[in-house]
Amino acid sequence: MALGYIGKILQVDLTNRKIEVEEKDDIFYRSHLGGRGIGYHYLLKSVPPGIDPFSPENRIVFATGVMTGAPIAASNRFSVIGKSPLTGTAGESEAAGFFGPELKMAGFDAVVFSGKAETPVYLWLTDGKAEIRDAAHLATWGAREVEDAICEEHGSRRIRVAQTGLAGMNLVRFANITNNLTNFNGRNGFGALMGSKNLRAIAALGSQKIPFADPEFLRKTAVDYARTFKENPLGKGLHHYGTTIFCELLSAAGGLPVNNFRQSKLDDPTPVSGDTYNRVLLKKRLGCYACPIQCKRGIELDDPQYGVDSRYGGPEYETMAALGTNLNILNLKAIAKGNEICNRYCLDTISMGMTIAFACECFEKNIITRADTDGLELRFGDADLMLRLLEMTARREGFGDRLAEGVNRLAVRWGVGDADFNLSVKGQELPMHDPRIKVGVGLGYAVSSYGADHMYAAHDTMFSDADSFSFKSTVPLGIYRPMPPTQITSDKIRSYVRLDSLWKMMDALGLCVFGFAPRGTMPLETLVRCIRAVTGWDTDLYELMQAAERGSLLARAFNFREGFSVKDDRLPQRLFEPKPGGPGAGQQVFQQKDFYEAVKLYYEMIGCDPESGRPRRGKLMELGLEEVNDLLGE
Ligand code: SF4
Repeated sequence: MALGYIGKILQVDLTNRKIEVEEKDDIFYRSHLGGRGIGYHYLLKSVPPGIDPFSPENRIVFATGVMTGAPIAASNRFSVIGKSPLTGTAGESEAAGFFGPELKMAGFDAVVFSGKAETPVYLWLTDGKAEIRDAAHLATWGAREVEDAICEEHGSRRIRVAQTGLAGMNLVRFANITNNLTNFNGRNGFGALMGSKNLRAIAALGSQKIPFADPEFLRKTAVDYARTFKENPLGKGLHHYGTTIFCELLSAAGGLPVNNFRQSKLDDPTPVSGDTYNRVLLKKRLGCYACPIQCKRGIELDDPQYGVDSRYGGPEYETMAALGTNLNILNLKAIAKGNEICNRYCLDTISMGMTIAFACECFEKNIITRADTDGLELRFGDADLMLRLLEMTARREGFGDRLAEGVNRLAVRWGVGDADFNLSVKGQELPMHDPRIKVGVGLGYAVSSYGADHMYAAHDTMFSDADSFSFKSTVPLGIYRPMPPTQITSDKIRSYVRLDSLWKMMDALGLCVFGFAPRGTMPLETLVRCIRAVTGWDTDLYELMQAAERGSLLARAFNFREGFSVKDDRLPQRLFEPKPGGPGAGQQVFQQKDFYEAVKLYYEMIGCDPESGRPRRGKLMELGLEEVNDLLGE
């Protein structure tokens, strides 16, 4: 049996209420590596071509990584994989928290759902047993009430619940999945995919021991890490501010989304600064399973207008920008309230904020009028309007029913699909990082198999300083020269390809990038020793990064089969406009022609056709994916 794993994958057919256990060997786990590899394997194998993502034939896979549940900082993530209701592509989304380790301890490495239950249900997992339970009474409740009700039903507060909310049950295309109310599989609309299967939640409680090859090494490393991570500025900053410091940092660099990406800096970012956040909202720092970094924010806000339920946690940077600066809202209390509403209903704050921004700009340009908005006057800077639209979207009430479809579908509906302000890629709304200060992130938005996602790959800004810990830690990957963040040369693309594999390796292993080099503080060498101590494999970075590539190629094979090609790897036109603010304002940062040449070169480098995106036969053979080559045909 594989170490680090339980060796069991659960197949749940919701239509026929049938549950089966599949047992897999060490080679399966080693070659697929973890969550995303396992997920894409089942997606490509089991989902028929061309189906609607809401069809019962779609799958949704919850899969843990190799390291998920190890007693090492930031080793607790799991992946959700399926055909995305937002993009129609192969999609994945990782979340930290406590659910992933609990799933393993409950006796399963992964759960693959197919079919559709007749009425809302949840899956109850405990110590190797699985049961489909009625959730009809929970279907419209808030996430907190559902979590409490499930814990009460089973008489334990230790139960970990991954669930979608009202937005998911109402098939809002960007509904997400929450675990412990504060951690999210945010992108790709997997909450809506759960909703389409009438699957409200999965609840896990386990006492099974995950077998490790060298538990003593893991214990010692965890203790050393907890003692030292704050000595490194990266670790110290994350603990103190979480990600809340990014509004002011990105504003200073001219890369903060403001006014639907038409501006990129604030005259005065103080209202949304990390220090203001700590003073006005912060109550305590929260962490995930076995993670001393505690980058999550616990807040308290007893305000007559914007009082929040602390159980839903505090906004992180993406939410501060998506529900805040990009909508010209700088009221932190209102942003915190928006965060709470989104978390209660399971709305992805990035897609939600961007959809409101898109609608506001359409209203400003007279593309839509009050006749389209139930009489509402849409405008930037209106916090109460933002809060109202969140409620309406989750309920699909009136104009909210239209917002629930996301930016790209609205753009097509309103006749502006090609507009520069359709800020989506493959139907996924842009996250809060402007490629005009880090072009590699833009490359990631374009080439990602599921559209714009800031977690898809490394951010260039980490690698521009030769003396930085981040840069130095990637030299062994063959990245020898620091790169200006706005450069788009073959050198940059080569480095990007290596970092892409590294990032995918982290996702596959179930790791949070904040814990490990180059973004976090644990050196890659120590990480590899931890993986050996978990699995007993005599492995190295080469094998692990190659296994991660296997998962990425399965996703690209799926997309090719669905009819996607490199033509879909388009950045919104607005991002090719001159930089609106900050250092170098008014300058064209990169040319469209150079950018799309870079996209083609990227495909050449990863072994895919630069027109169709099809993984090449030789590359598939190299990775041991002969059957995928047969599946795709000539
Ligand atoms: S670094 Fe933050 S998000 Fe990542 S595992 Fe630790 S507490 Fe969770």
